[in-house]
Amino acid sequence: MKALSQACVKLPRHGVREIMVRSAQIPNAIHLEVGEPNVDTPLHIREAAVEAIHGGYTRYTHNLGLLSLREAIVKFLGRNYGLNLEAGQIVVASGAVTALAVSSLVLVEPGEEVLIPDPSWPDYEQKILIHGAIPRRYELRPEYEFLPVINELEEMITPKTKAILINSPGNPTGAVFHETKIREILAFASKYDLWVISDEEYDLIVLDRKHLCPMSYDTEGRVISIFGVSKNYAMTGWRIGYAVAPLHVAAVMEKAIEPLISCACSISQKAAEAAYSGPQDFVEEMCKIYRDRRDKVFDIFTKAKVKAFKPKGAFYMLVDLSETGLPPKEISLKLLEEEEVAVGPGNTFGPSCQNMIRISLAAEDADLIEGAQRICKFVERYR
Ligand code: PMP
Repeated sequence: MKALSQACVKLPRHGVREIMVRSAQIPNAIHLEVGEPNVDTPLHIREAAVEAIHGGYTRYTHNLGLLSLREAIVKFLGRNYGLNLEAGQIVVASGAVTALAVSSLVLVEPGEEVLIPDPSWPDYEQKILIHGAIPRRYELRPEYEFLPVINELEEMITPKTKAILINSPGNPTGAVFHETKIREILAFASKYDLWVISDEEYDLIVLDRKHLCPMSYDTEGRVISIFGVSKNYAMTGWRIGYAVAPLHVAAVMEKAIEPLISCACSISQKAAEAAYSGPQDFVEEMCKIYRDRRDKVFDIFTKAKVKAFKPKGAFYMLVDLSETGLPPKEISLKLLEEEEVAVGPGNTFGPSCQNMIRISLAAEDADLIEGAQRICKFVERYR
């Protein structure tokens, strides 16, 4: 037999998925590893999907998505970020996962380099590798609020650097860019003529600092923003996300999406339309809940002198377990084995947080509190 594609064979495995599989075999495990809201999609959104089924939305849509959804998104982004967009700039896809994949396919040639954060969501590295481009990691450090440091980025530039990927609110760091940092990134991108892929999947999940959309500061048309409904509206299974791009870029994405997905699910698109045009109190309520959980859990870690990093956005918290002295690969496995707590292993997000773990605040209060206490007990045992 001839060999399989090496880009695919060599893809690193997603560490959170591995923990999910292992912890599924432990009946009473506390699950703090999964990055999805632990509540149902709001009723008015589910009802819109039922109406869509009966109303004939059962066929292929335009490659870019239903016009009514794209118009709802244009209004929403105009209201929230002052963007003045056209429906032709919105590329609806099967989750932000696919919107990101289409963006990197369209912007980057095989062999070119993309700067990605360390730590970051493991899919970035996979997406870039799968089409033969080269991910290069820039470090995000707690002493700089987990925000990129421009002179370090400058040192990574090579003739092959094509794009920089940024993520705010950040997974797993919870970092949220402020205006100065956005302006610095845009000036850097302009200086080296780079595309900016801005992953804003968690834009509405803001705990301390309001999300600012880099596209609204971009005067050169080099930002492609990625959004999704998965986390904001508890819609992970519906698979709707989208890219917002300059018209000429969106036109190429429209072609590239055909052989990948052709279009996103028509019923889910109608549900997403209801999410964007309907009441927003669900989002506000969830932010309040995440903020409250974050404070409770942070307090537990502080009292036990375990170093945790308070997120400003998204719903994750990084906790530093280097005091245990355990090898990075073993930390989350031992935690699962000994304390029955499933967490995101730090090393899956990048070498800079290999001694950390990521916990999700999208879990029941009682589980989070018990989980945090067990993590403290675990550190106590090894320190
Ligand atoms: N970006 C980030 C930072 C994420 O954490 C995720 C999901 N974990 C996504 C994008 C993609 O989500 P979806 O495809 O469900 O929209």
